[in-house]
Amino acid sequence: MLETSCVSQQELLDYLQGRLPEADRHRVEMHLADCPFCSDAMEGLSAIPEKEKIPGVIRQMKWNVLQNLRRKNRKKRKREFYVSLGMITLVLLFIVLACFFAYHFMVKK
Ligand SMILES: [Zn+2]
Repeated sequence: MLETSCVSQQELLDYLQGRLPEADRHRVEMHLADCPFCSDAMEGLSAIPEKEKIPGVIRQMKWNVLQNLRRKNRKKRKREFYVSLGMITLVLLFIVLACFFAYHFMVKK
């Protein structure tokens, strides 16, 4: 027996809360038996004591992920800022040196 499509999060929640019809319960159980991804998800969901708060918890997790991404981007932007600052410094140094040599040669002539 091969179950191709994964169980949705809502179905997992309904299953945990016993709100799933008998036929669907059986399908979910069969799927959980041979899908490590869904049984992991099920384990995670069943570890949360208050099932009513699960959708909120999931939203919170997504929000945290977004926050982490944003923080990483900010760090990256900071690094880019320092890299461009270093480049500008190098270019300025080069211009100063070029001016110095040009002046030096002009004076010698
Ligand atoms: Zn699955």
